[in-house]
Amino acid sequence: MPTVRVANSGETLQVGKIICVGSNYAEHVKEMKAEVPEKPLLFLKPPSALIRSGEDIVIPRISKEVHHEVEIVVLIGSGGKKIREDAAHECVFGYGVGLDMTLRDVQRAAKERGWPWAVAKGFDTSAPVSDIIPKERVASAAGLEIRCSVNGAQRQQGLASAMIFSVEKLVSYISALFTLERGDLIFTGTPQGVAKVEPGDLIEAELVGYAKTTHHVRNDE
Ligand code: MG
Repeated sequence: MPTVRVANSGETLQVGKIICVGSNYAEHVKEMKAEVPEKPLLFLKPPSALIRSGEDIVIPRISKEVHHEVEIVVLIGSGGKKIREDAAHECVFGYGVGLDMTLRDVQRAAKERGWPWAVAKGFDTSAPVSDIIPKERVASAAGLEIRCSVNGAQRQQGLASAMIFSVEKLVSYISALFTLERGDLIFTGTPQGVAKVEPGDLIEAELVGYAKTTHHVRNDE
């Protein structure tokens, strides 16, 4: 079963559901020509999509346009159902950085036809995640910053404080629909600057001051 590592410890946690949030930064909503959602927009990735730093992102043959989306990732420590916003922080184990790798051409076709995003968002290697920083070691969750660079050039930068729905709101909303369990991951949405990657590219995603995950991109054989 896929696991994530806790930074600077030998500990690993088995990963359960991967719940992802779309359209959670206003500037990214604009660049996608989408609408600001009234409620968090949710989709899922299978746990088998997870990879760790150093592993390759593999582009499936069905796509010619793969995009990086850097995101703050929340690891759930203690689960629950209908968790109140003011209790959400207690449920969080810690934070990391992830890449919501997206087959943009496949997603576009799915949007046009009203088909699900399962393939565009959930293919193998679509969920790179860094080691997880326990929340006790994070000075301010609202102050977290993420960055993404490709071949050394910065492409994306964002702050947790710019999210449309905060981590507390997301945990509360999600837990009313999907019972949260220890080991679940929440991808909290991407800031602006999503763009295409090519085979041979090196992607670096960073939770500034805390964690990094680095991946080469290649085509499926
Ligand atoms: Mg995303």
